[in-house]
Formats: sequence, structure tokens, C-alpha cells
Amino acid sequence: MVDTKIKTIYDVICPFCGSLCDDLEVDIDKSTQTIIGIRNACQIGTAKLFASNPSEHRYTKPMIKKDGKLTETTIDIAINKAAEILIKSKRPLLYGFSSTECEAQGKGVELAEILGGVLDNTASVCHGPSLLAEQDVGVSTSTLGEYKNRADLVIFWGCNPVHAHPRHLGRYSEFVRGYFRKDGRNDRVVIVIDPRNTQTAQIADIHIQVNPKEDYELLNAIRAMVRGVELEDDKIAGVTKEKIKEVIEIMKKSNYGVIFFGMGLTQSSSHHRNVDSAICLTRELNDYTKFLITPMRGHYNVTGANTVFTWNTGYAYSIDFSRGYPRYNPGEFSSVDLLMRDEIDASLIVASDPASNFPADSVVNLFKHPLIVIEPHETPTSAFADIVFPVAIAGIECEGTAYRMDHIPLRLRKVKEPPENCLSDAIILEKIINKINELKGEKQ
Ligand code: SF4
Repeated sequence: MVDTKIKTIYDVICPFCGSLCDDLEVDIDKSTQTIIGIRNACQIGTAKLFASNPSEHRYTKPMIKKDGKLTETTIDIAINKAAEILIKSKRPLLYGFSSTECEAQGKGVELAEILGGVLDNTASVCHGPSLLAEQDVGVSTSTLGEYKNRADLVIFWGCNPVHAHPRHLGRYSEFVRGYFRKDGRNDRVVIVIDPRNTQTAQIADIHIQVNPKEDYELLNAIRAMVRGVELEDDKIAGVTKEKIKEVIEIMKKSNYGVIFFGMGLTQSSSHHRNVDSAICLTRELNDYTKFLITPMRGHYNVTGANTVFTWNTGYAYSIDFSRGYPRYNPGEFSSVDLLMRDEIDASLIVASDPASNFPADSVVNLFKHPLIVIEPHETPTSAFADIVFPVAIAGIECEGTAYRMDHIPLRLRKVKEPPENCLSDAIILEKIINKINELKGEKQ
């Protein structure tokens, strides 16, 4: 007999990592609006979906700090207070936006412009250098579907998808059968370039153990040798010349190669120059065969944040509106740098937890000033907030648009009702904007 209390929703998109797997099946208990079963998701995706169920860590009511403690309040009081803080602030920071829907990201841009504040997303601490490199030298890239169907050489450089994007290998890059790669894993050569012997390296055909922080040297040695330059040293960045020659042969003989790269390139010495060189290597290999490159983006909609910010302001992250028009200067207007210099006097954090991954000194300065957090769960950041807005989680409790790591926009599905009083990030931001406009209007 069919259990009518349970509803199964198919083709659900996982709102966790930049792979945006779109084949999840989610069982909902209709009476309690809780998730009771998930199929096809990896462990981390499953954990995120189950974490939307009621728990002591989930916020369900707006909170405001009173006598040093967060206490429940109404949405109207919280909106009013948030608007007052932001209007009073001379240099507000709006940060996060990578784990929310594009509609909320658009509202974030609007709010930053009204306030004359600084707008930033998590790219400033992950793939910002990739964006700088792409702005410098362009990029030859394609979609995950193309890689699945065509790539016979896959290089993972400075990334560990077995841990960070677990289904990427099975859906797009390593084990999957493609239209021209009918034999799946047997039709592909997989190379991992990483100082660590990661689990991705352990299942690769070749692991190149480059010295830590010497990716730039290795990239340029490969580029020189691709052009036929004979290097004097026997070893470059810990890799023998013979090994480099072997890899170059594989690259040139492949029909369709792709480099997937991660924070091992973007956040090690040379930063965007590493990515710049990797892109140039990709371009140069096209003299011999088809070669492309794609960053492994972490947060499920960080690509959306970069895209929405760019189409609104011209810039992807670290944007300053203090002069009434957008200015872009990573390093000067990046959240961590601003906080380290204690230039920020109020912050609005949307769907992010900077206290867990920013340097300690910058977090101390973040907590010194009024802090507003829009976040479904208790985090180290929200624990120190002055105002917390609980939210409906995008991709689980409300719809929205998200961009996959290869810039493919996908429509997130709503699979269950949010807890009572929980609005989407976009609606909360819109309410704050309306309140600020109202208060500013009153002053004039
Ligand atoms: S690989 Fe990423 S998108 Fe796919 S199920 Fe796992 S966490 Fe979700």
C-alpha cells in the first residue's frame, strides 16, 4: 500500500557544493514537513538537507541582543533595528551571499548601493584569484556536460574532489560514461597534481607530488617544455624533468583535456599568477589538441554571486560603493583586509560564517561593531550577532536560481515548507531595503 503521508520529490538540486547535482530524490513527511529520506546525494549533501529539519541549532524566530543575550523578537522590530544600524553606519560591510539564491544576491547589490557600503562574497577568500586571472588573460572553458562526454584527459590541480565535491567524479569527470567515452574510467587518463597524497590522488593514474607553494614554478616549467625549451635543472618544484616530459606527452596526445583546479592554486604562493599560468598553459596546449580549464567552486552558488554582482556593478567581488558608484580593488576592499584595518563599523552577513574561516584578528574587529546575520543555523558568527534573522533555506524551503561551477544556471526546487516565521533571504533583504528607504524618506 502506498503511504500517503510521504511525498517523494524527484530531480531535486543539491544546494551544497558547486557541482549542483540535479538528480536527488527527497522523501518528505507531509504532516511534519520534515525530510525523512534522501537518495543520490553524497554524504555532505545529505547532511545539509537533513540539517534543515527542526533541531536545537536551527533558528526559527528573529533574535535581538538584549543585556548581552540573544532574545526572541518580532520580524518588524528586527527589521527596524537592522535598518537603523545600517543607516547609522559610515562604512557597512555586506558579506557572504555564496550559499543563497541569485534573487537574494541581487537584493544585496541594491542594499549595498543604497548604503554606500562595501559588498563582498566568499570568492574574496577562495577563487578571487581565479577571477583576477580570468580578467587578465581570459579563459578557455566549457561545461561539465562537455567534459563528461568528451574529455579523455582529466587533470585535478590543487583540489580534492573526493572530499570537497564527492559526486563530481561520478557525474562529470572520472567514472562517468560519456557520449564519446563509453567505457567511463577506462576511457580517461586522470592526473592529480598536489603536494598531498589525497584520496583523489590515490585513485588517479598519475600523481605529481609538486613541492608545496611551487605550483608556479612547475606550471612555467611545463609551459617552457611544451614549447620545446630544454631546462637545465633535473628537478623543478620537486618533479623530475622526465616526469614532466611524460605528462606533456600525455597532454599533447589527448583528444580533449581539461584542468580542474582548486584552492591549492588560488591560495598558495603566487595566487592569481598560478591561475594565470594554468590558463596560459591551457591556451598553449590548444596548438596541439583541445584543452580547457574550469575552477572547482566550493559554495553552491558562489558562481552566481560573482555573476549577479558582475552584471549589476561590472565587478565580481570586493566592491566599494562609498563614492556612490562601484569601485573594485581586491586587497583594499576585500572583507578580510577591511576588517584587519578595522575600517568596518557595522556588518551584514548573509548565508556565511566568516568567524569560522577569517583570520582571528579580523573576527575580533567584526565582533567589535554591530553585527546583523541572516542565517538558518547557529554558527560561530551568529552567536556574536546583535540581530539574527532566521531564514527559509534556498533549494530546500524556497525556490531560486543558482549557477553551477561551469556557469550553468539551474532552478533550485522547494521541497518542503520552512518553519513558521522564516522568510527567504531575498524577502528579508527587501524588507530591510524598504525600511531604509522609509526611514531615509522620513529624515528628508
Ligand atoms: S557533490 Fe556536491 S552538489 Fe553533489 S550531492 Fe554532493 S554536495 Fe551535493
